[in-house]
Amino acid sequence: SAEGHQLHAFFFPLMAQGHLIPFVDLARVFSSHGIKVTIITTPLNARLFSNTIDRDKQLGLDISVQLIPFPSEEAGLPQGYENAGSFPNFPAVISKFINALSLFQRPFEDLLQEHRPDFVVADMCFHWVTDVSAKLGISSLIFHGTCFFSLCVSDNFIRYTPHENIKSETDTFVVPGLPDQIELTMSQLSDHLKKPTDFGKMMERVKESERRSFGILVNSFYELEPAYADHYRKVIGMKAWHVGPVSLSNGGIAYKSERGNRAFFDEHACLSWLDSKKPNSVLYVSFGSMTRFTAAQLLEIAMGIEASGQPFIWVLRVNDEDAEQRRITEEFEEKIERRGLIIRDWAPQILFLDHPAMGGFVTHCGWNSTLESLTAGVPMITWPLFAEQFYNEKLVTQVLKVGVSVGAMEYQRIGGEKALVKRKDIKKAVEQLMGGGEEADQMRIRAREFKKMAERALEEGGSSYADVTALIEELRLYPRPAV
Ligand code: UDP
Repeated sequence: SAEGHQLHAFFFPLMAQGHLIPFVDLARVFSSHGIKVTIITTPLNARLFSNTIDRDKQLGLDISVQLIPFPSEEAGLPQGYENAGSFPNFPAVISKFINALSLFQRPFEDLLQEHRPDFVVADMCFHWVTDVSAKLGISSLIFHGTCFFSLCVSDNFIRYTPHENIKSETDTFVVPGLPDQIELTMSQLSDHLKKPTDFGKMMERVKESERRSFGILVNSFYELEPAYADHYRKVIGMKAWHVGPVSLSNGGIAYKSERGNRAFFDEHACLSWLDSKKPNSVLYVSFGSMTRFTAAQLLEIAMGIEASGQPFIWVLRVNDEDAEQRRITEEFEEKIERRGLIIRDWAPQILFLDHPAMGGFVTHCGWNSTLESLTAGVPMITWPLFAEQFYNEKLVTQVLKVGVSVGAMEYQRIGGEKALVKRKDIKKAVEQLMGGGEEADQMRIRAREFKKMAERALEEGGSSYADVTALIEELRLYPRPAV
């Protein structure tokens, strides 16, 4: 019978931490619903989560990894650059990286032929998976790794092009057709909305493949953004399931950085330092897996958090070849002594956010970081840098009202000089959030409520649990065309 057959899924994440981590977490969610999951990735990327897979196996979850080599040579990329986070300057090589992705098509198709999984979950960047799977009668789902809100904003840009007649980079305009009045400036939009780019071309293909796929998986939960979950399904007309927050499935195991190590700090020392701090007093400062700031911006951050007087943990990624960056950060580290912790390269983010001493997260609004903050009940200081992060900022500050904006107004490519955020703006935002005002108290209360909702969503009977169950039932009943 259909019920007796264990479904087998291929999971195919993009090689970038912000995509890889939620994918592995998602694999665990599906596996806990009885699905056999095979994660397809490159050897280097597989190493970044091998510790979690080992633990999952011990817990009896049916998750394994199938390796495909990264086509470095064909793509004209240096050996070892198999993860978007490993590039010192990602924007310079983004086209090469995007081109490399299409070279995975042949080996992926071979694996599909060989294993004939029941369905595939692919990163949106592998848009060709939809057609390749359909040829073999296999259902495919697309995982964007962002929220309903940003999916809605992106879609409405394509639909209504509200930005087309805006001349100045700083003029604001309203994104039409959304449940709330959301304003953006031209400078906050991705390049591909303003001029043709390789990324833009890829996004067009993504849009086309979405419509032909079985549907979209969204790492969010219904109670967080009900108006946008409804808008995406009913107004935009997409078939979508909310399956998050997927980070709740990982049981606190920290993933590794693209350099594959976590030896830069002593986890226990950090946690006992946190233990010594008052509840809600510590600021966590981190900008995801890809951001590299300039020396000038690093100095402003250092001076800003120092001036705020708040204890802090700053996850600091410097370009080791830049003597100025090294000097600034080393001097700062000496000066602050035990008032703050500086973590080089990579931190166990979820572990830190979950600590009762944690009081605020200075974040670039990558969706994973944003959702992890909400899931931990920690309000935010928003500092978006690129891609849909400016949209996520609006969700946090205007719709959910759990964050203060640092006022990063300009679209700033990683390392961009033009858009320096000044120390006084950082200090001001920190004081607004951590200074104990009425507005900040309300934000903290709301963040705590989201934490409770998030935890309920993935429990049996919760909204995300129910959506995963419904999806699996649908996949089970879906007639798999004969090949
Ligand atoms: N992360 C982490 N330690 C770090 C930096 C990042 O564990 O020092 C994790 C973080 O918890 C999140 C992911 O890496 O799950 C980053 O994803 P996000 O969408 O926030 O940003 P991106 O890296 O894609 O810009």
